[in-house]
Amino acid sequence: MADYFVPELQEDIETPALAVGTMAHLAPYPAVEKHMVALGFPGKRVDDWQEKGIAKLGEMLKKYRSLQVYLDICVKCGACADKCHYYLGTRDANNMPVQRAELMRGVYRRYFTPAGKLLPGVVRAHDFDEETLQKWITYFHQCSQCRRCSVFCPFGIDTAEITMAAREIMDSIGVGHKYSQEIICKVHEVGNNLGIPKPALKGTLAFMETDTLETMGHEVRLPLDEEGADVLLVTPSADFFSEPHIQSLIGYAKVFHQAGIRYTFSSVASEAGNFGMFIGSYEQKRRVASRINEAARALKVKRIVVGECGHAWRVAYSFWNTLIGPFDYLDPRYPVPQHMCEFTHELIQRGALTLDKEANDEYVVTMHDSCNVARATRMGNRPGGQFEIPRDIIRATCNHFVEMDPDTTHEKTFCCGGGGGTLTDELMDLRIQGSMPRMTALQRVMKRDKVNFMAMICAICKAQFTKVLPMYHMPMETIGGVHQLVSNAIQLGAKKGIV
Ligand code: SF4
Ligand code: SF4
Repeated sequence: MADYFVPELQEDIETPALAVGTMAHLAPYPAVEKHMVALGFPGKRVDDWQEKGIAKLGEMLKKYRSLQVYLDICVKCGACADKCHYYLGTRDANNMPVQRAELMRGVYRRYFTPAGKLLPGVVRAHDFDEETLQKWITYFHQCSQCRRCSVFCPFGIDTAEITMAAREIMDSIGVGHKYSQEIICKVHEVGNNLGIPKPALKGTLAFMETDTLETMGHEVRLPLDEEGADVLLVTPSADFFSEPHIQSLIGYAKVFHQAGIRYTFSSVASEAGNFGMFIGSYEQKRRVASRINEAARALKVKRIVVGECGHAWRVAYSFWNTLIGPFDYLDPRYPVPQHMCEFTHELIQRGALTLDKEANDEYVVTMHDSCNVARATRMGNRPGGQFEIPRDIIRATCNHFVEMDPDTTHEKTFCCGGGGGTLTDELMDLRIQGSMPRMTALQRVMKRDKVNFMAMICAICKAQFTKVLPMYHMPMETIGGVHQLVSNAIQLGAKKGIV
């Protein structure tokens, strides 16, 4: 195993002494030419990259007024400085949100403000030169677009949006990130982030059906491409193959089984995730999302339900309507989109599921709110539904539930450390150090309350924690999905749901 630096966990999350450049060495792998070209970007860095990059920034300032406002209004109050998990974990000054954004603000001032053009040194303006570009490549890929900093900014400046803009500019000059580009290409070619072809998908779903029948004695279906089903279930592809994700997949299937509602997965839309958001590309976001629309129409479903994936829910909740709407062919009685938690919650509320809480008695459960769900979406028809609905489900399926420190949950939740396109091996040092705040809060309830299960509704969080928990000497089985708990508690064959 590579020699990673793992921070020693303290009792509390401490603000570190400032350091400069501790993570300057950690840039992501550059995108390969064929992926860049396939996505409509220059295959490699263009000769006139400076002019092109500055022109792209100018174009974006006109298109996205919020970007210009965010670049203009920062007063350097420092309220965001110690709120980023990557700064807290790495101590690198450039991972302070205000400093990260300053990498773009300096360029903005230099080329788009009178003072920056005349007196760059006085207003901290700087050229878009090789040194600056290298810092952009490094530090705009050390932001998980989690938006925690924006919660604490008195002006609501969203550094995640600045990161997305920087990545979009870099792509436009042929400087892309291998991991995200490769994944988007897999979706276009095969239909999902993992590149699982249809026969393999069909095989794994059939295997799970057989296994559920043999172990539980119930014909719980996991159908693929079934025309005329009521619901299209779109879920992260990790749910089909990875642990613990697959346990939630079985949970979804059991919920549909008990509710007596026909549903189907789709081989065309076998991915809920949408890395178009991570690279800041509206066009790629639209192309990835359009597969879901295509599948829903072809399968003639009445509803679309989204499984446990944080950024997928953000794209669905915040962008689907403008990206791929209108959804006038779906049944207007149901929300579009609907989260799997909303679906299960509604069934629980009207007594359509029988749940045995004692089935989860081995667990003392806490809840990790995923950034994109917490700070960029809602569930249900009330503010805070995105926090309360998953917790209601946990309370309905478990006897023992405790919260972590309130400064680390709900809208103040800490990123897992692997979001926003950082879930790649070459950034493992960042991922480990960036998870320190969440690990500290988790360790505290493990010691104090004997917590042994941290529930979540995000495929990236699950994948990230599975990797980093052992580095902090915690069992990787400590984490799992909310629907894993549902799966354990649900009584198959008990009272049937009514549609
Ligand atoms: S969006 Fe999240 S990762 Fe990015 S600077 Fe803000 S707190 Fe840090
Ligand atoms: S909190 Fe907002 S205004 Fe203050 S330094 Fe951070 S981004 Fe700037």
